Amino acid sequence: MPDAARPPRHVLILGGTTEARRLAAALAPEPAGAPEPAPAPECALRVTTSLAGRVAAPRLPAGEVRIGGFGGPEGLARWLREHAVDALIDATHPFADTISHNAALAAATAHVPLLAVRRPGWVPGAGDTWHQVTSLDEAAAALPALGTRVFLTTGRMGLAHFAHLTELWFLVRSVDAPEPPHPPRMEVLLDRGPFTLEGERALLRAHRIDVLVTKDSGAAATAAKLTAAREAGVPVVVVRRPPVPDGVPVVEGPEAAAEWLRGLFSAADSH
Ligand code: NAP
Repeated sequence: MPDAARPPRHVLILGGTTEARRLAAALAPEPAGAPEPAPAPECALRVTTSLAGRVAAPRLPAGEVRIGGFGGPEGLARWLREHAVDALIDATHPFADTISHNAALAAATAHVPLLAVRRPGWVPGAGDTWHQVTSLDEAAAALPALGTRVFLTTGRMGLAHFAHLTELWFLVRSVDAPEPPHPPRMEVLLDRGPFTLEGERALLRAHRIDVLVTKDSGAAATAAKLTAAREAGVPVVVVRRPPVPDGVPVVEGPEAAAEWLRGLFSAADSH
C-alpha cells in the first residue's frame, strides 16, 4: 500500500522511443476511465519523461514531460538531485550513445539507481545478405561496391557521413526534413513508422533500390524493410549498436523495467 506520509517516488525516464512511452504509460497515474495499465510498483509514483527535443512534434508520453538537454553528465546529475529522483531509466534509442554514457556518470555521481532498457537487436535469417559495420563511416565506405540506388534509413542526423558519395542516388527517410551537408543526389521521404511490408516492398520497387542502409535499432515497427529487402535480393548494410556502458543493468522491455522498479522500491521499503 502507498505510504501517505511519504512523497511519491520520482522516476525519470530518458525517452524518445516506443519502449519509453510504454513504460511511462504503465507507470504514470492514468486519467479516470482509462484502460488499466500494466501493473506498476506498489507505491505512489511521479513519472517524468525527458525528450531531447530533436523531433518538431514528438508523440508525448503519459506523465510529466521535460524537453531539451541537461548540459552533460553534470547537468543531469544536478537535475537528479534537484528533482529528488529515486530511479533513472535509460530507455533511449540503442544508438543514443552520448546520453547513455551521461546517464551512467550522472547516476553514479548522484547515487541514483540506473537501469537501461534495450529492445533486442535484429538477427539475419536465411536469404538475408547483410554487411555488418560498426559506424556510419564504414557504412558509407561499403556502399559503392554494393549498389547505386540507396535506401538510407539511418536518420537525418547522420547524413553528413554520406555527403561525399556523389555518384550514388539516395532515398532518405526521416521524421523531419534533413539539413545540409547531405548527399547531392537524394530524394527525401518524410515519414514515421510503423511501416508495413506491403509499403516497404512498394518503395523498393518504385525507386529501384539496390542497397538498404539501416541501424540495428531492433524495432518491430521498422523491421518490415528487412523482409522486403530479403524478398527482393537487396543487400543490407547494418550498423551495429554501441555497447551499453559498463556496469549498467539491462532489460529488454518496459514490463521488465516496471518489475525492476518494483523490486528496487520494495527493497528500500523493507529497510
Ligand atoms: P545522443 O547523441 O546520445 O545525445 C546527444 C545529447 O542530446 C545528449 O548529450 C543530451 O544533451 C541530449 N539528449 C539525448 N537524449 C536526451 C533525452 N532523452 N533527454 C534529454 N536530453 C537528451 O542522442 P541522439 O542519438 O541525438 O538521440 C536523441 C534522442 O532521440 C534520444 O532521446 C533518443 O532516444 C532519440 N532517438 C535517437 C535515435 C538515434 O538513432 N540516435 C533514433 C530514434 C530516437 P545534454 O548533454 O545537454 O544533456
